[in-house]
Amino acid sequence: MAGMAANGLEDRLAPYAVSSQNTRGRRHPEPPPGRRSEFQRDRDRIVHSTAFRRLEYKTQVFVNHEGDLFRTRLTHSIEVAQIGRTIARALRLNEDLVEAIALAHDLGHTAFGHAGQEALNACMKDWGGFEHNLQSLRVVDELERRYAEFDGLNLCFETREGILKHCSARQAAELGPVAQRFVDGLQPSLEAQLANLADEIAYNNHDIDDGLRSGLLDLDALCETTLFGRYWREVHARYPDLQGRARIHETIRRMIDHMVRDLIDESERRLAEARPTDLDAVRKAGRPLIAFSDAQREINLELKQFLRHNLYEHYRVRRMTGKARRVIHELFEAFMNDHRLLPPEYQQHCRHKETARGKAGRARAIADYIAGMTDRYAILEHHRLFDPDHVS
Ligand code: MG
Repeated sequence: MAGMAANGLEDRLAPYAVSSQNTRGRRHPEPPPGRRSEFQRDRDRIVHSTAFRRLEYKTQVFVNHEGDLFRTRLTHSIEVAQIGRTIARALRLNEDLVEAIALAHDLGHTAFGHAGQEALNACMKDWGGFEHNLQSLRVVDELERRYAEFDGLNLCFETREGILKHCSARQAAELGPVAQRFVDGLQPSLEAQLANLADEIAYNNHDIDDGLRSGLLDLDALCETTLFGRYWREVHARYPDLQGRARIHETIRRMIDHMVRDLIDESERRLAEARPTDLDAVRKAGRPLIAFSDAQREINLELKQFLRHNLYEHYRVRRMTGKARRVIHELFEAFMNDHRLLPPEYQQHCRHKETARGKAGRARAIADYIAGMTDRYAILEHHRLFDPDHVS
């Protein structure tokens, strides 16, 4: 990847950051991108992909048609990128790489949030399972078809590695170099570590916001949690007349800021202690160098547990996820029984996979099709297949 030093795009990077010089490159070699860094090019390819546009109509907790104000996977991913870039700049890490990982991290998510992922995983249990992380990697490595010379987006190693947050030993063996660190017990780049924690900051805070807006979360109960309670009272002390959405927002922005500061401070402390001289030292550090303080991890855990009990397991959310599960199961079964129900290009994908890997291949192709569906497309497809009155 020579030639990048000259254009000055990555001059401020710390020695342990990933740069266009020390990237392990792309699977299919390409000429340097010229006036962009390698990771700007990755980010741009992600933004132009079909899977990225679909994020607009996929949800995390609420189904897409429940309200226009809730986060979708698209706005979630943009929030992750924003938080990630802020921290990357403070730590002199590669902002473009963090942004690329953040924008791509949810590309493999099914419709209907975690309910969709669990349902598809259950459908695939005899065929290698379904995991959204691995699916995000499949999207950028294989499923996007828009370039003449390669399938997928042909992203840099470090972007792909950042997308693959976790995987089992069996999966690592199948995935090859991108998953080798799981075999060797090495850390990923600091940028990958950061994108992962920026994700956590984003969803913990926006799920509170969406939970309150939907009326599912109880404000008094939320005030019992450490961080929300602290800033809720602090905002009130400073602006006694402030009410409603603005008071909630003033509280949540302080929570985000608090978490970001803690993450930067603790990471700086760990970096000063470990003194990694380069990316290789980061990989061999034995523990993540981007991290929250112990105290903050406790606070985050408290918040996560609160959200699990009061929001993700709320009966109204469960009713929705129950329906979502049925839609996914029924779609999968219908296509497994007769792949000729698939649109022509997926029938072809299916035949291809089946020739190579038998019934497991067919199941994988069907999972690819279902995983790509947005909330509303999955519901529509379900109507088309099961509603006798639906003419299509
Ligand atoms: Mg996420």
